[in-house]
Amino acid sequence: AGLNSNSHSPSSFKMPTIKFSKLFINGNFVDSVSGREFETIDPRNEQVIARIAEGTKEDIDNAVKASRVAFDDGPWPRMPGVERARIMMKWADLIDENREELAALDAIDAGKLYHMLKAFEIPAAANTLRYYAGAADKIHGEVLKPARELHAYTLLEPIGVVGHIIPWNFPSPIFFTKVSPALAAGCTMVLKPAEQTPLSALFYAHLAKLAGIPDGVLNVVPGLGPIAGAAICSHMDIDKVSFTGSTEVGREIMHAAANSNLKPVSLELGGKSPLIIFDDADLDKAVELAFLGVMHNKGEICVAGSRVFVQEGIYDEFEKRLVEKANTWVVGDPFDSKVQQGPQACSNVVAQTHYVDKKQFEKIMSYIEHGKREGATLITGGKRVGNQGYYIEPTIFTNVKENMAIEQDEIFGPVMALMKFKTIEDAIKSANNTRYGLAAGIITKSLDTANTVSRSIRAGIVWINCYFAFGGDIPYGGYKMSGFGRDCGLEALHKYLQVKSIVTPIYNSPW
Ligand code: NAD
Repeated sequence: AGLNSNSHSPSSFKMPTIKFSKLFINGNFVDSVSGREFETIDPRNEQVIARIAEGTKEDIDNAVKASRVAFDDGPWPRMPGVERARIMMKWADLIDENREELAALDAIDAGKLYHMLKAFEIPAAANTLRYYAGAADKIHGEVLKPARELHAYTLLEPIGVVGHIIPWNFPSPIFFTKVSPALAAGCTMVLKPAEQTPLSALFYAHLAKLAGIPDGVLNVVPGLGPIAGAAICSHMDIDKVSFTGSTEVGREIMHAAANSNLKPVSLELGGKSPLIIFDDADLDKAVELAFLGVMHNKGEICVAGSRVFVQEGIYDEFEKRLVEKANTWVVGDPFDSKVQQGPQACSNVVAQTHYVDKKQFEKIMSYIEHGKREGATLITGGKRVGNQGYYIEPTIFTNVKENMAIEQDEIFGPVMALMKFKTIEDAIKSANNTRYGLAAGIITKSLDTANTVSRSIRAGIVWINCYFAFGGDIPYGGYKMSGFGRDCGLEALHKYLQVKSIVTPIYNSPW
């Protein structure tokens, strides 16, 4: 693509000093038991930002012990909901006050756009916390009406000590979609951020302490997936694991839970989401939504609309305008406010230890090569931008056949598979031809078409004439191999609650 800017020289933005690089256990920042550290890398220039204490099994044990004491004997689960809410609201206000520093931490750690973080993601994270703070004093069971002469009611109790494991693509929003409902429910917890993005998570732990979250309620232990993450999943004293990440790791997490204490797990996994554009669509809007649907956050989005199906009547014009859009797209330094796409996130440790022994950048480039070999046509992009940092051109393939790897696998990069369809039935069939079921989009002016397609797609969220319309108050999650359980909305509270029924006879009946 003729990118009008690929100048990704470091901008003049003043980098934040890294204040927190140790494990946060029982209200204190501590070294790891082993003394080990790992590096977190700036994907703009491949330089080390900071060395972070690496939690291993012993540190997870210590964090779980602190959580257990806080759950069994501490004030948090026993506090009136309104009191938990007050502390959570205070934490949210502290996030707002530190918005610029938090935005800068996620920008250097993950190559995300600084201005987007500041305007949207950090405020959205704080608002998710506020949403669940508002729910903290409204969690209650119900009075039942048994057929027999019994008085019966349910209590909703916090599930206990929770383990949260999160990815790197939305470090702040996902941190809060996990911890907020669990805190509102009265749980205590251990969170492991991704290797690539430990910085904001540790800063949030510091703010939690300032807000008055009692020691032991929230522990943040950075570390590697197969070591610290695996220790959480197989821990005998963790009552629930809430995971967001890849489908492959989700499968390992279920195994570990089954092979230890049978703790329930909820899994928010990968996707290969379809966006279906009908002949009657507003073309400019459709091009905009389709492009952003996969290029936003450099394609590192679980719900990316990476399979775009366009009806034959508008296909040619759509394709032409899509390429024009790609030609104006600015790839570069995420601190520059004109830039629309930063570098792909990276981690040296993941490259060395992970089951996929490649950096995200290399994985994307190899899918692009594979797409060409499979016979798809590259109509724009496909190359690295510059020779330092992990920048990739927005990439669009046409002549994509269903069941090609670029059509079926989650690439997690700025790569679109563009396809043509004839009828609504064809579109539904193709859209559902995937092992995933996370999200879908429909662009049409017809209410009948929107109703038919939205009910026929097997996915946890369907957007009509929009895409990425998210909020802490809207549940989302997977069908099929995109996982199970829902994050966000009141729905998510129930992951962190147990239902207890209490039954007593109304009259002095024998039993
Ligand atoms: P990943 O599965 O590699 O890692 C996610 C987390 O799991 C990290 O914290 C990692 O350290 C940890 N982990 C790795 N191996 C582990 C193991 N054996 N045991 C326990 N924990 C382990 O995923 P990623 O590369 O960080 O993130 C990208 C993936 O996340 C994509 O597939 C994307 O679709 C998915 N994702 C899903 C959602 C959603 O809401 N459904 C949101 C964002 C990202």
